[in-house]
Amino acid sequence: TDTPAGPLTAHGLTVTYDDFTALDGVGIEIVPGRITAVVGPNGAGKSTLFHCLAGTVRPDAGRVEFAGRDITRLAAHARTRLGIARTFQQLAVFPSLTVEENLRVGAEQGRVRDLTAVDRTLRLLGLDGPVRHHPAADLPTGTLRRVELGRALAGAPHVLLLDEPAAGLDTAEVAALSRVLRALAAEGTALLVVEHDLDLVAHLADTVHVLSAGRIIASGPPERVLDTAAHAGGGDV
Ligand code: ADP
Ligand code: MG
Repeated sequence: TDTPAGPLTAHGLTVTYDDFTALDGVGIEIVPGRITAVVGPNGAGKSTLFHCLAGTVRPDAGRVEFAGRDITRLAAHARTRLGIARTFQQLAVFPSLTVEENLRVGAEQGRVRDLTAVDRTLRLLGLDGPVRHHPAADLPTGTLRRVELGRALAGAPHVLLLDEPAAGLDTAEVAALSRVLRALAAEGTALLVVEHDLDLVAHLADTVHVLSAGRIIASGPPERVLDTAAHAGGGDV
């Protein structure tokens, strides 16, 4: 059975930790076929927003909708099942499983459970050579990050949420990642990239939102918005 595609939208998201307001009425729309970025300085609330969309933080106010359905109260694993996939910075790969086996686990948790998506994903990420049979434990970090992305993609998600995907990657790996994310968008996937690295966002995103102290202070195409981000301290500063 398939699940409908559609935008992932949030309205008025507010999250408070004790009496600190981490998100203050944030709205965002993540649209099929487009790469949406959120930038901002450390502590701006980027990861909190990410968690509200992924289902790992419940907002105190506001709502999250996917394809017209209110999913604000839906658990993270159920969102994955609907086709909202995410990656983990701490990598959610199983070290004793091979690359291919890790992707099969991802496929089991995702929207479609047929294994054609596993093969397609292995090819897309350049993991279809002999490395597909290697245990993940033996692989260098850059390859592991691809396996982690592959785990998320193997369930053929409608939406892919990425928190700082460029962290720890070298220039060539960032370029390769950008190509993969562009290809996914061209196929109709809705992507959210939460990033510190303004260079990546400048070249990749269709729309950028600048988050500062829990509020979106500027939105638009990267060439218009990234000056604001630099002034808000949104880069590696
Ligand atoms: P970013 O990802 O932009 O660096 P975060 O969303 O991680 O920002 O954090 C936003 C603010 O909320 C920070 O001041 C952070 O210290 C605070 N914060 C985040 N998570 C928690 C938590 N579980 N408990 C208390 N404060 C938190
Ligand atoms: Mg963060």
